[in-house]
Amino acid sequence: MAGAAFFLGAALGGLAQTVGGERVRVVATTSMVADLVRQVAGDRAVVEGLMGPGVDPHLYKATASDIVKLQRADAIFYNGLMLEGRLGDLFTRLARTKRHVYALAESIPSDALLEPEDYAGHYDPHVWFDVSLWARCVDVVVEGLSAADPGGSAFYAAQGRATKDRLSALHAWALAKAAELPAERRVLVTSHDAYNYFGRAYGFEVVGLQGISTVSEAGLADMTRLVDFIKARGLKAIFVESSVPPDTIRRLAQDAGVRVGGELFSDAMGTPGQIENGYDLGTYEGMVKHNLTTIVEALK
Ligand SMILES: [Zn+2]
Repeated sequence: MAGAAFFLGAALGGLAQTVGGERVRVVATTSMVADLVRQVAGDRAVVEGLMGPGVDPHLYKATASDIVKLQRADAIFYNGLMLEGRLGDLFTRLARTKRHVYALAESIPSDALLEPEDYAGHYDPHVWFDVSLWARCVDVVVEGLSAADPGGSAFYAAQGRATKDRLSALHAWALAKAAELPAERRVLVTSHDAYNYFGRAYGFEVVGLQGISTVSEAGLADMTRLVDFIKARGLKAIFVESSVPPDTIRRLAQDAGVRVGGELFSDAMGTPGQIENGYDLGTYEGMVKHNLTTIVEALK
């Protein structure tokens, strides 16, 4: 039965809102991308995220069931800029045969993107940590959902405007929260270089033990360099990330004589309904607020 419904859906092509009122089927990669698409889609689409809590997108490999979901989807949204390193070829292939495949971060004009020195030739993909930059990805979500489901385009446009308003309020909240820390205390040491956009937006100097991708591991020289940095700057705390094994940061904290200030969410959000300090860690807004509160409290 499901096969027949799928066949009918496929036969109808661009008419994503299928006969019988079936909702549009959307697949997203990371939990942040899924969250943004859900904000815009509301109840009009079913949005499924492939990568759950604690999953590292740099290392993620598609499963057989992921590929089936992607092939059946009416629209696909991913982060892009090589964040999903091992899925790159798959998306390139899918984009050749499917019409509605969108990379959120790649919709941002390149003059707003960072191109870190040690990641030469590539843009940093971690754009969601500058909330104002993430808000710029709303337009491509509206565009993609409207293309897959033209009957809903007015609805998606209105939802997109409301989403931008919420993100703009969240950005203002984040700026005010960061300002609780004096500028000289805004130094963030974490597992990998996920926080460059965060640093630029909220005035932090950021240092990651591993590079932009988690593919290459930290060596002894990196450890020594960071111990010296932490001591020289008199930092009070450094941070582990939920999607990267915590052992090296723990060892670094020990060697440098500082404490681990808490767990930050970097490339994956928490579990939906997991509440900490009143924030739902399974939402983008909750993740942003949790991260900033954890950082500010530990470095005060
Ligand atoms: Zn990352």
